[in-house]
Amino acid sequence: MTLVYTHENLTLVVNVSTALQNAGIKTQIKNQYAAGGRGEIPCFETWPEVWVASQFQVKQAKEIVAQITLESTQPDWQCTHCTELNGAAFDFCWHCDSPKPR
Ligand SMILES: [Zn+2]
Repeated sequence: MTLVYTHENLTLVVNVSTALQNAGIKTQIKNQYAAGGRGEIPCFETWPEVWVASQFQVKQAKEIVAQITLESTQPDWQCTHCTELNGAAFDFCWHCDSPKPR
């Protein structure tokens, strides 16, 4: 088992785990319910973690994680057709289906 991603936000951790599983990578989330221990153990140790079961899939998993975290650091974009604000990870406006401007 290899740790490939950790974040204080469980939703992000679950999203990464789901993306990896969709790519055929078997994952396990640890510390999902460890937040209750905050204050007694160092806070980083209570963050939920994504672990990859097979060492042969770690490289692929890390590439997917890098792609996801890169997308999450890019700014939202505004649709030029309907002015809707869309997350950086979306290639099409969720409101009107127009493509993301390049
Ligand atoms: Zn739009």
